[in-house]
Parts: sequence; C-alpha cells; structure tokens
Amino acid sequence: MTEKFDAVVVGAGPAGVTAAYVMASNKMNVAIIERGEYPGSKNVIGGVLYTKTLNDMIPGFWEEAPLERRIVQHSYCLMGRQEHTLLTHKVTGQSDSPNGFTILRSKFDKWYARKAQDLGAILIAKTNVTELLRQDGKIAGVRTDRGDLLANVVIVAEGANTMLCEKAGLNEKHPPDEMAIAVKEVVSLPSERIQERFGLGEDEGAAIEYLGEPFRGLVGFGFVYTNKESISVGFGALVSTMTREKIKPYDLMERFKAEPSVERLLRDGQVKEYQAHMIPEAGYAGMPKLFTDGALVTGDSAMLANPLTGEGADLAILSGRLAGQVATHAHAATDYSSTTLSEYQRLLVNSFALKDMKKQTGLLHYIEENLEIMTAYPDAFNAALEEWFKVDGSTRSEKIKRISHFVTSKRKVTRILRDGFTFGRRLI
Ligand SMILES: Cc1cc2nc3c(=O)[nH]c(=O)nc-3n(C[C@H](O)[C@H](O)[C@H](O)COP(=O)(O)OP(=O)(O)OC[C@H]3O[C@@H](n4cnc5c(N)ncnc54)[C@H](O)[C@@H]3O)c2cc1C
Repeated sequence: MTEKFDAVVVGAGPAGVTAAYVMASNKMNVAIIERGEYPGSKNVIGGVLYTKTLNDMIPGFWEEAPLERRIVQHSYCLMGRQEHTLLTHKVTGQSDSPNGFTILRSKFDKWYARKAQDLGAILIAKTNVTELLRQDGKIAGVRTDRGDLLANVVIVAEGANTMLCEKAGLNEKHPPDEMAIAVKEVVSLPSERIQERFGLGEDEGAAIEYLGEPFRGLVGFGFVYTNKESISVGFGALVSTMTREKIKPYDLMERFKAEPSVERLLRDGQVKEYQAHMIPEAGYAGMPKLFTDGALVTGDSAMLANPLTGEGADLAILSGRLAGQVATHAHAATDYSSTTLSEYQRLLVNSFALKDMKKQTGLLHYIEENLEIMTAYPDAFNAALEEWFKVDGSTRSEKIKRISHFVTSKRKVTRILRDGFTFGRRLI
C-alpha cells in the first residue's frame, strides 16, 4: 500500500528533524524516514552545538535537552615540533544565554526527534530511501526498501553523503578538495578527572581546536571537547590533501593523540567509540540547487558547513527551519512548484550563516594552494613567544630583530601581506 503525506523528510539528523518539527507544529501530516536504528545511531558531531539557531525555535531548550557540558572555555592550540601556544578565552560569570554545549548525538538526536514526534510527526526508522520519486517531472515522494511513500513536498536531509540528490540530478559528486574526512573517538574518563585536567567546574566544558605540526602538509585541524564523563577527540582534513600525503585516517589520529599536549588530557582514558564521517567543504560556491518542483535540500546535503568555525549542526537547524517554513507556506497555498519553494533559497542566502560562507568563498582553495600557512604561522608564533620569554642576556630590541628574522624565514613578507589581505577581504 502506498501512503500519502503532506511532507516526507529523508534523514532524522538536525536538519530533517527541524523541518519536521516546524511542519508538524503547523499541523502538516509529516513522516521522517531514517535508515538508522534510531535517530543519532549513525550520526557524528565533534561536537559543540551552538545554541543560537535552536534557541530561536525552542527558547531555553537546554533546560530539557540531554546535553553534556556548557562551553565556558574555548581555545586555539598552535602546535610546533616541541612546543605549543594555547590561546584561551574563558567565561567566568553565569550567562542566561549559553553559546554552546557539547552533545553526544545518540542522546541528543533521539530527544530532538521525540520533540517532532510529540507534535505529530511520524518517525519511520530502519528504513532506507533508495530514490526520489517523480511524477510529471516533479518530485512526488520517495522509494524506500520497504515500499513507496508519496508526498506533496520532500525535504532532503540525507547528510554529507548525497546519494539521493545525485541520483535525482540535484547535486553532483563533490571532488576530494571539497570534502573533508573527519574522525572522532570518545574516550571515557571520570568527570572529576576531566574537571581537574581542564580547570572546569561541574557542568562546565572546554573546546580546544588544534592547528600546526601534526597536520603538516594537510588542510586540517584537530579538536578536543569535554563531555560529562568522556572526551571527544578527533580531526578533520581535506580528502585531497590526505591522499596527496598518503596518510591514513587512523595513523593521523594516532599521531595527533600522541602529541604531549593532547596525550596528557586523554591519559588513562578508555576509547569507547571510533567514528569516521565526511564533512562537506565545498562552501557557498559548491552549493547545489536547493529547491526543485516538490523538494527542498537542507543541512549537509546542501553543503551547509563552515570549515572556518566548525559549525554544521546549527546551520543544519537553520536550513531545516527555513525549509519547514517555506513548505508550510506551500502547503497553505497548495502550490509546491519551484517558484513557491525558491523562497527557501532566498531566505537562506540572506541569513547570517550564508552571508559568512559567501564571503569566505575561495579561502579553502587559497589555503590548499599555500599549504605552508598551516604550519608557518603556528611555528612563527611559538618561536616568537619562546624568544620573548627567554632571559638570555639579549636586549628586547635584539630579540625583536631575531623574531622578525625568524618570522620572515618561515614566510616571505610579500606573502604575509598577501595572506593578510586575502583573509581580511574574506572575513571582514
Ligand atoms: C567528526 C565531526 C565533528 C563535527 N563537529 C561539529 C561541531 O563541533 N559543531 C557543529 O556544529 N557541527 C559539527 N559537525 C558537523 C555536523 O555534525 C553536521 O553538519 C550535521 O550533523 C549535519 O546535519 P544533517 O541533519 O544535515 O545531517 P546528518 O546529521 O548527517 O543526518 C543525516 C541523516 O540522514 C540519514 N540518512 C542518510 N541517507 C538516508 C537514506 N537514504 N534513507 C534514510 N535515512 C538516510 C542518516 O542516517 C542521518 O541520520 C561535525 C561533523 C563531524 C563528522
């Protein structure tokens, strides 16, 4: 038997569940199809969930959601061969609007999907969508390994692996310089040990992003995030650079974890989980068409990830919300044509997230073409500070000359100026 819904959502990640939540709250008859055993069973995040986009929809969601720790401490660690510099920002007072929380997807996604189900959305798990169905040239539903489901509108939220979009001609397979491989381990440790090692209070959390030595030759970075009773540790790196350097994800993970500044945080911990996943890095220029007659594309499937800030889940929520709103308007007007659905692309492009991504266009390629940047600046920073702090009988003016000499030996002045101009133009 073929059932018909107002809307079918493919994928119960943050993008899909958000779209379902919005449509169900507007009394639409919605089905969410998820191939995993339950929402979150197949999902990976580092992960910090930045609160802004979910809080706009469910104010104060942190009072009820299963979260790990509130991020009060955010650091960049610039790694050299035998030294590192840690730049830390710490919030010491209480805040009514926390900026981010660490989450574990297996708990968070289940809770979030339950919120949509409570509004009437039907979750169909353990079901794989194999293709988008077309009738008279329009998307009219989905084919699954358990039968067909028809819908007036289909929200595609299949994540970074865009098999359905590619099959339906909405997206093309992205080349290796537009995709990053991300690997993550969850290492269990008693909460008191985590608090002691990171200098945190009971519910407080830390996020550290690592740049430099372990990622020499790669466009990549590492991360360490604190959960209640575990630490998430991992990295993301452009597939093209991993291939060029002939380095395997497992080996890079071991190299990163062996760094003394990382090892001391993980010492005596037990690895509970190992996960690998893709992150879309195509940016604004590589975004697919986000709408067609009868369908909208959201979240990672729409390449909505910001490599510079590590944001992805909150952008997925933003796109899911806008897709849900536009689908609701289309439902009210009983018009699911691309003319009506194109409003989604317009809203998204005018959002803060897309404005940023648009501005950053080309930045990743610039870094890939100037790979030296990834280690030259951390090296220069480390050497400069070492020189500055060392008391060796030299005058400060001699030290400044030595620092300038070292910095320019790492990267020529003309290139430093070009880097500054390129980054400045794409960020400000
Ligand atoms: C290691 C790592 C660290 C990250 N860290 C962060 C971070 O710290 N902060 C942050 O904001 N973002 C982070 N991200 C990015 C973030 O996880 C993603 O941007 C976000 O999950 C995208 O949400 P989504 O709903 O679009 O896709 P997903 O969360 O991938 O959900 C897609 C869902 O669709 C289902 N699905 C796929 N195909 C089918 C099909 N054919 N039929 C049925 N179901 C299907 C999948 O099982 C999955 O549940 C990280 C990602 C990785 C890999």
